[in-house]
Amino acid sequence: MNQHLMTLLADGQFHSGEALGQALGISRAAVWKQLQKLEDMNVPLHSVKGKGYRLPEAVELLDREALAQAGFPFAAFDAVDLFLSLDSTNDELMRRAGLLEGRPSKQICFAEMQTSGRGRRGRQWVSPFARNLYFSILWPFDGIAKLQGLSLAVGLAVQRALVELKVEGVGLKWPNDVLIQGEHKLGGILIELTGVVTDACQVVIGMGLNLDWRVQDQARIDQNAIGLAQALGKKTVVGMRNTVTAKVIEHITQMLERFTLDGFAPLKDEWNSVNAFDGKTVSLILPSSSVRGICRGVNEIGELALETEEGMQYFNAGEVSLREVKDDGATV
Ligand code: ATP
Repeated sequence: MNQHLMTLLADGQFHSGEALGQALGISRAAVWKQLQKLEDMNVPLHSVKGKGYRLPEAVELLDREALAQAGFPFAAFDAVDLFLSLDSTNDELMRRAGLLEGRPSKQICFAEMQTSGRGRRGRQWVSPFARNLYFSILWPFDGIAKLQGLSLAVGLAVQRALVELKVEGVGLKWPNDVLIQGEHKLGGILIELTGVVTDACQVVIGMGLNLDWRVQDQARIDQNAIGLAQALGKKTVVGMRNTVTAKVIEHITQMLERFTLDGFAPLKDEWNSVNAFDGKTVSLILPSSSVRGICRGVNEIGELALETEEGMQYFNAGEVSLREVKDDGATV
């Protein structure tokens, strides 16, 4: 019912309670209850006396039919779920993985908004309603050793999808960010492990990908971000949101299928060819220190190669952050 109601509201126009009730075949009181539920989920609804209810603007909701038409790989998953609102898509799949008790399952879930979207180290991921993409994938792996380079591989899959969508200037920032136009962050990847980590384990791969990024979103974070629409010089993602989603997931799915068999090594050169910080002076921020050096890409297992004063040093993607060092010594 919620989904049906949202489809009616997606045009951003006012709809009276009566009209909504007629379209849904329910009473006005029942409509009001449904609208209340949407508000409880933090869906941004405007109501004006005498006019009715509307969303602040027209949106293109994720939609199974539209996704199927655009080639979304439904057959690759045991479950594909579209939510209007979740705390976090990673949290949802971590909960499900818990219920599976180690049984392997491939699942994907999307949310139109997240109330507690997370980045690494519990940092907030800004997740406004129906403008960007927030999804997580549950995928089984044979063991923790097989995960080396996974976030790089997923980033590469997104990069390939964006190239196919004719987006120019996409780069990857080790270990988990998709950048565009230099240092603008288009998306981030958050990988979490669940289950027994000795032989079999289930991994939750979360992604936030900005499709329509606004000034009010930028005010909430401390680094430069961008949306796909802005990168393409468009005003909105209405008209392309399901297509972009299908393409991105198609590439990620293909990537995961290959990566499970071959690991990161065959992807090393391709990743290095789109390394946003290649040859740049960078500062790698470790939990209690930092290392400065020239970024020399990654090795076969996805470790970052830094040319430092002590020679080449390799780092794996733990709780570390990479920053470019500008000529004046400032980091960005
Ligand atoms: P670091 O920048 O330290 O390497 P990161 O780039 O991997 O970390 P994450 O931890 O993955 O960042 O994401 C959280 C950070 O991303 C936030 O602290 C904020 O600066 C930024 N951020 C939050 N929401 C968004 C968003 N929707 N788009 C782009 N960046 C965001």
